[in-house]
Amino acid sequence: ATMPPLLSAIANAGRHGVLVKSAVVLERLGSVTRVAFDKTGTLTEGAPRLAAVRHLPGGRLGDDELLALAAAAEGPSEHPLARAVVGAARDAGLDVRRAAEFGSAPGRGVTARVDGRLVEVGSPTALLADDEPAAVDAVAELERTGHTAVVVRVDGRAAGVLGLTDRLRPDAADTVARITALTGAPPVLLTGDNPRAAERLAAEVGITDVRAGLRPEDKVSAVRELEAGGGKVALVGDGVNDAPALATAHVGIALGRAGSDLALDTADAVITRDELATLPAVLALARRARRLVV
Ligand code: ADP
Ligand code: MG
Repeated sequence: ATMPPLLSAIANAGRHGVLVKSAVVLERLGSVTRVAFDKTGTLTEGAPRLAAVRHLPGGRLGDDELLALAAAAEGPSEHPLARAVVGAARDAGLDVRRAAEFGSAPGRGVTARVDGRLVEVGSPTALLADDEPAAVDAVAELERTGHTAVVVRVDGRAAGVLGLTDRLRPDAADTVARITALTGAPPVLLTGDNPRAAERLAAEVGITDVRAGLRPEDKVSAVRELEAGGGKVALVGDGVNDAPALATAHVGIALGRAGSDLALDTADAVITRDELATLPAVLALARRARRLVV
């Protein structure tokens, strides 16, 4: 049987491990001029590990108590950093209590009440004031050495800083090189993480355009800016924090395995295999299909 070219291209993309939700999406994929990647969970494996715990004198807690409180607050969160904190606390044999009044702000962090104490865990940008030099120094030291630093506040006071590290996906550099060859422009990195960790990782994969410290709404602005001159952006992301930008981009692509439900629902296409390398193959295929149709 002969299928229309767009439909057979969609079937083909599916075999490569990319679920394309409609024929319109396939056409859009074929006209992409620029690819933007989220960092955590997209260019990295998304399974960060806790590598450092630094309690601060002002918090009056030891490292174990600090980690136990942070883990309790992170308990309900599906963010990869949260899973790492909870996992590390359990591995250390700490008692991870149940949190009450849990709240989360995508791209910023979580708050919860643990044993009556107000615990906040999240990005230094969101949680750190300049008048807490010990915390500022601990964050700077961890970020300089390639960590994602996460601040823990207890009852309104900076009590400690956690350092997490995440491995690059093995096919990230190759994917970046192939996309650059295909579109004629190197991909862009959009991340909520700190500029130091972001630059370091970008250099390893061959990305020079790095936009860091972005909140979910900043990712939306970044996509709009990239598309302002008529560019057509494919954004690849995995998190709840990426959903608004996935909806804004010409094509939003979510990673299936690590992806949050919101990202999967919002995206136009889903990478169903846990491989980034499927992406350049499908971009090329979409370009060929478009030439057949137009
Ligand atoms: P990325 O854009 O790299 O995927 P996110 O937007 O998910 O990163 O998160 C940005 C930053 O917000 C993280 O580097 C971290 O500092 C903070 N953050 C977000 N969610 C959490 C959480 N559940 N626990 C701790 N920190 C968090
Ligand atoms: Mg992410």
